[in-house]
Amino acid sequence: MNLAFTKAKPVLEEIERHGYEAYFVGGSVRDFLMNQPINDVDIATSATPFEIKTIFEKTIDVGIEHGTVVVLYNEEAYEITTFRSEAEYEDFRRPSKVDFIRSLEEDLKRRDFTMNAIAMDARGTIIDPFNGQQSIQEKVIMTVGKAEERFREDALRMMRAVRFVSKLSFELDEQTYLSLREFGYLLEHIAVERKLVEFEKLLMGTNHSRALHLLIDTGLYLYLPGLDGYKISLYQLIDYEIDLLTLEERWALLLATIQIPESEMEPFLREWKLPVKRLREIQRMVKWLSYRQQQEWTSYTIYQAGVEHTVSVEKLYNCLKKQPLLNEVNELAAKHEQLAIRSFKELKVTGNDLMEWLNRKGGPWIKDALAEIEEMIVNQELLNEPNQIREWVMSCKQM
Ligand code: ATP
Ligand code: MG
Repeated sequence: MNLAFTKAKPVLEEIERHGYEAYFVGGSVRDFLMNQPINDVDIATSATPFEIKTIFEKTIDVGIEHGTVVVLYNEEAYEITTFRSEAEYEDFRRPSKVDFIRSLEEDLKRRDFTMNAIAMDARGTIIDPFNGQQSIQEKVIMTVGKAEERFREDALRMMRAVRFVSKLSFELDEQTYLSLREFGYLLEHIAVERKLVEFEKLLMGTNHSRALHLLIDTGLYLYLPGLDGYKISLYQLIDYEIDLLTLEERWALLLATIQIPESEMEPFLREWKLPVKRLREIQRMVKWLSYRQQQEWTSYTIYQAGVEHTVSVEKLYNCLKKQPLLNEVNELAAKHEQLAIRSFKELKVTGNDLMEWLNRKGGPWIKDALAEIEEMIVNQELLNEPNQIREWVMSCKQM
């Protein structure tokens, strides 16, 4: 057993000691069987959330109505979910209420793909009623049960199928693929927040090119916010070498590739329900990217964009030109490092100084004057030194 499981094993044993069943399930078992690093260890149990809460000292209620409690154990957090069946699905979404059951097999049956429907107990015994291990061996993503039914129950599973292609470099089983083509439109019923999670995992997966190809080919992209109408430019996205890009950079690349008009950028990102802070970051990146596509960096634009954005934009610029990222990024970072000032706060002059030197009242002129001084200092036309600045100010008639 690997370290993550060894650490979590006492949690299973503790639940068993109280007379219930408990298993590792889902992604962690799949990743373990694939010799891949494990994200989070999820646990399924026959005990109800209430029973779990009486067994462990430290618990957090995260979704009691869905049967999930987080247990804090040896500094780790474990999501423990009661075996459940989701018999009644409404509107192609996960049900709002679930029935708790006492059978592991029923619980595994409601899971999306065979590779995600494998359980392992505290002694390392694998329980695999849907041949998930075989799917892993064959590198195939296959629904548990009939694909059409499973996608009708919860249409998000179609997005999940494609994002697992990206993460695991598996292929879709034929029936799963055909159903996905046929029932993509059911994604209309799915909340954007859930689509966003899967879409971002798709963008970040190692096999993103293949996954994007499938997303377009199957028509799923039509039911994602703002992408309808961009089929051809989305295809271009597939060919870019994006492995070195961060998630925000990948969003910026997407926007630049589909060449979304500037006025539509914010509505597009808002439709995806991205948090405002991230949305601003991405917008800024795209803005500087379009600057970079027209001209080279100058000291002043490096200063304005800031080192992080300069580097990001340079990466994106090279990516779009399909040219390798040579030493530009390091050079730009060094240039930023050598700037006379790196932020407005470092200016050795204030609005008060200006008013005093020139014996003038405050007003909008101060902001303009400071901006001019700032630019000259960054361009090394003036030293950031109070006396020098004063001398220059006094010699300036127009101020
Ligand atoms: P990752 O390592 O990328 O998180 P994961 O398999 O753990 O992959 P999660 O989204 O964390 O994926 O879900 C955990 C498990 O819950 C899945 O392995 C699967 O068994 C089950 N599951 C999650 N979402 C669904 C769904 N929409 N329908 C059915 N089962 C699901
Ligand atoms: Mg997970």
